[in-house]
Amino acid sequence: TTVYLNGTFLPQDEAMISPMDRGFLFGDGIYEVIPVHLRRMIGFKQHIIRLQTGLEAIGIAFDWSEEKWQSVLSKLLGLNKGDNLAIYIQISRGVSQKRQHGFPDNIQPTIFITCYPIKPPTNYLSSASKGLTLISQQDRRWRNCHIKTTSLLGNVLHYQNSQNQQVDECLLYNEQKQVTEASACNVFIVKNNHIYTPPLDSQLLPGITRAIIMDLITAKTTFGLTEKSISLDEARNADELWLTSSTRNIAPAVILDNAKIGDGKVGEVYKQINLLFNKHKFDF
Ligand code: PLP
Repeated sequence: TTVYLNGTFLPQDEAMISPMDRGFLFGDGIYEVIPVHLRRMIGFKQHIIRLQTGLEAIGIAFDWSEEKWQSVLSKLLGLNKGDNLAIYIQISRGVSQKRQHGFPDNIQPTIFITCYPIKPPTNYLSSASKGLTLISQQDRRWRNCHIKTTSLLGNVLHYQNSQNQQVDECLLYNEQKQVTEASACNVFIVKNNHIYTPPLDSQLLPGITRAIIMDLITAKTTFGLTEKSISLDEARNADELWLTSSTRNIAPAVILDNAKIGDGKVGEVYKQINLLFNKHKFDF
């Protein structure tokens, strides 16, 4: 893999960062993941806007133009092979010789970009296709989950907990027992052919896949769509439950805490929306 580090393209195993980098010491940085299918970045502009918003939220001054992003990311893609890739961008506050909590003066952000293969979207149309299994967990992360920070320990521990219990992901809920999101995905449910997703606030990441799916549902289907708080009970009683992210696409979940969601099979509304979504990713 060829990567980009602070202005240079080089082999990934030759890319080196100081242990005094605040990304390493404090998780003091922002990241972004852009899916690429058939060499085309999906949602490029939305991903760059979210990255810029996150950097501003934590006070890292970094403002490449859209053209600069286009040129660096296209060059990176040109230097790497693969039809289905994720571009990973990380910008930390930078390196300071002294370890101190406060932001150092005159610090240069560190920018690192790499890419790795991902699976193409699945069609899940065959009756043999299986959905994901989930457990619910109280959301133990920090209170600014709308910021895509590299401080991911909370998410990592939630995810590992689900792996330890041999399920695919965990559905997180807050103190009011409302569903926020999963450890690395947003959540949608379907009840009586109406689609719901939690509204954006500081409890969840404003997913780009979430936004793309909402636009597709509104523009191309007659399904009702409402952003509203979803209680854990509503999630348990849903007809369908989906997880969405740039690398998982739309993934249907069929088990929550050992109980079936709906009839325990990949849902019909899901199949329709997933077809539309795959078309969006591949037809242009
Ligand atoms: N929520 C969390 C916590 C995530 O880490 C992610 C992505 O990795 C998402 C939601 C989905 O966001 P996106 O669709 O932009 O990939």
